[in-house]
Amino acid sequence: MCAEGGDVEHAKKKVKIRFAKLLAAFLRADESRPHYLDTQESLIVSREELQKHGSSSGGKVAGRFVAFPAKSQLAELSDMEMFAYEVAGSLGGMLTAESLLDALKAKDARGKFMALLSEDPKLLKKWEAFRLEAEKNLLMDWLFENGIELGVPPVKIRVREIAQEEWKKLPSEVRDMKPRACLKCGSGGEFARRLFACSAPVENRLKEAEAARALLDKHGLSKFDVYSNGRNTFLLCAKCKNCGSEEIFMDF
Ligand SMILES: [Zn+2]
Repeated sequence: MCAEGGDVEHAKKKVKIRFAKLLAAFLRADESRPHYLDTQESLIVSREELQKHGSSSGGKVAGRFVAFPAKSQLAELSDMEMFAYEVAGSLGGMLTAESLLDALKAKDARGKFMALLSEDPKLLKKWEAFRLEAEKNLLMDWLFENGIELGVPPVKIRVREIAQEEWKKLPSEVRDMKPRACLKCGSGGEFARRLFACSAPVENRLKEAEAARALLDKHGLSKFDVYSNGRNTFLLCAKCKNCGSEEIFMDF
């Protein structure tokens, strides 16, 4: 796993496969039936097919086949908790966030949670959409971390600069976030601050890399902080007037 976007940049694997097809295979795969992406042939293969390949090519398969991310029960439970807070909590429907969170404390947390949701078909649909979004994010993170580039990128992010006269209309948590100190020269003086609106939420590493690319291509900026109020996503950039660095500490 690479921590820096730049680390994987030089080792991109270009794969001609649609994201929807990858997602469908990922949703089908489980611990007992792992799936792999053959990055050379742009195919999804099973463990048996991988083993066949390993024996026919003398085991020289490293790097070519990438295992799909493992599904974890823990991740699902943490999604359930987030759903209870974020979605169910704001609906005011039959089920409350509290009742869902209580269900998650039970021994069979997953079963209890799903049983509760089945009482409210609308909320159940919302949960399925929420969970699908989480799976997509997991898969996009995996693509990014393995340096896999699809023929048709799964996301395209555009950024639009917000003019200073529009700043007052922004949510306060974005408007009031200000550059405080340069992390390079330590200057706490003047900073040129710029704000951008993002065309899509930046909730995984692939989307973060796409936003970075858009910002660099269009505005020549390479560092940003992401702020989201759930509905909109903003990128906040600043440059030190003393040394020109973009590595700035931001705070209220
Ligand atoms: Zn500086």
